[in-house]
Amino acid sequence: MRTLSLLGATGSVGASTLDLVRRQPGTWGVRALTAHSNAAELARLAREFSAEVAVIADETRLPELRAALSGSGIAAAGGAAALVEAAARGADLTVAAIVGCAGLAPTMAAIEQGGIIALANKEALVSAGEVMIAAVATHGATLLPIDSEHNAIFQCLAGNDPAHVRWITLTASGGPFRDWPWERLCAATPAEAVRHPNWDMGAKISVDSATMFNKGLELIEAHHLFPVGLDRLRIIVHPQSIVHSMVEYRDGSTLAQLGPSDMRVPIASALAWPRRMDTPCEPLDLAAIGELTFRKPDEERFPATRLAREAAQAGGAVPAVLNAANEVAVAAFLDGQIPFTRIAAHVENVLNAYAPPPPACLTDVLAVDSEARARALQLTLSVG
Ligand code: NDP
Repeated sequence: MRTLSLLGATGSVGASTLDLVRRQPGTWGVRALTAHSNAAELARLAREFSAEVAVIADETRLPELRAALSGSGIAAAGGAAALVEAAARGADLTVAAIVGCAGLAPTMAAIEQGGIIALANKEALVSAGEVMIAAVATHGATLLPIDSEHNAIFQCLAGNDPAHVRWITLTASGGPFRDWPWERLCAATPAEAVRHPNWDMGAKISVDSATMFNKGLELIEAHHLFPVGLDRLRIIVHPQSIVHSMVEYRDGSTLAQLGPSDMRVPIASALAWPRRMDTPCEPLDLAAIGELTFRKPDEERFPATRLAREAAQAGGAVPAVLNAANEVAVAAFLDGQIPFTRIAAHVENVLNAYAPPPPACLTDVLAVDSEARARALQLTLSVG
C-alpha cells in the first residue's frame, strides 16, 4: 500500500482524486484529508477512506467535525497550524488541491517531507516560485503537475532534453466569454462566469478562466516547472480543450498531449507515475469532435496574460502580489462588489502601487501575500 494525503479533499480536484482512489481498493492508505469549512463532507470522506486524520481549516467548524467523526477512531483537528501539521506527517503522495495561497504553507510542509507532491494548487507555486522550487531540490521531493496543461507538457517532455525545446505552448479554452464584446463583458455576472463551457471546476478557477488569469497563472507556473526561458513559453486559444498543451522541438517536431476535458486523466497520470492506470473517462472520439481550432489570445479584452507575463519577467515578489490581488478581486466579483472587467484593473493597480523586495523564504512570501491582499481589499472598498 502507498500512503496518500489530500489537501482540499472536498473540492473539485479532491473529488476527482478520490473517485480514482475509490477505484483502486487496497492500493492507497489515506493519511490526511483536509477541507476549509465543509465539515460534514470531510467527515463523510474520512470515514469512507478510513483516513488517519481529518483537518478543517476553519477552526469554528471543529466541534462539528469532531461530532461527525465520533466513534470512528479518526483524529480530528482544526486551524491553519493543524493543516500544516497534517501535511508534515508526510505521505508517499500528497495531492495539493487547496484553492489559493491558503494552500502554500501546507504544500511547503509536504515538500519538506521529501515525498511526491501532485500539484494542482497553482496559486502556491505562483506565489512562492523560487522558494518552492528550491525547497523541492533541498528536500529531494518530486513535483508532479496535475494542472492539465502542465501535466501535458510534463508528458511531452518525458525522455527529451529541455535544451532542444523551441516552444512550449499552453492551450487555453478562452473561457465562457471568449467571444463576448467589451460592453457585454462589463455586465457579466458571477453565474455566467462560473459556467465554463468545457470543464467542471471550483468557482475561483472558473472565474480565472473567464478573465484569462488562469492562463496567466499557468504561464508563471510553467516558467517555474519547465525552465526553458520565458521567451519560449506562449499561449494559444483552443476552444475545444482537447489538446492540453504542446512542446515543439528544434527539429520542427511538435509533441502534444490530447485527452478528454476531465481532470481524472492528469490526476491518474500522477497517481500511477511513472506507470499508467485505467480511468473511467470516455475514450477520445476525434471523428465526433470533428475540428480542433486555434487562435491568438486577445490581450485587449483579456489583459490578464500580459500582466502575468510582466510579473514573471519581473520575478521576485511580483507574482505573489499579482496572485493575492487577483484572489481578492475574484472574491469581490463573486460577492457582487465589483464588475467583471474591474478584476484585471484592480490587479494592475495593486501591482503598480506595491513593489516589495524578493522573498527569501516562506515567511517572506506569506508577508507579501498578506500585504497585497490588504491593499487589494482597500482598493475594492474604495473604488468598488
Ligand atoms: P474547489 O473550490 O472546488 O475546492 C477547494 C478545496 O480547498 C476545498 O476542499 C476547500 O474546502 C479547500 N479550501 C478552500 N479554501 C481553503 C482555505 N482557506 N484553507 C484550507 N482549505 C481551503 O477548488 P478546485 O478543486 O477547483 O481547485 C483547487 C486547486 O486546483 C486550485 O488551485 C485550482 O486552480 C487548481 N486546479 C483546479 C482544476 C479543476 O478542474 N477544478 C484544474 C486545474 C487546477 P471547502 O470545500 O470546505 O471549502
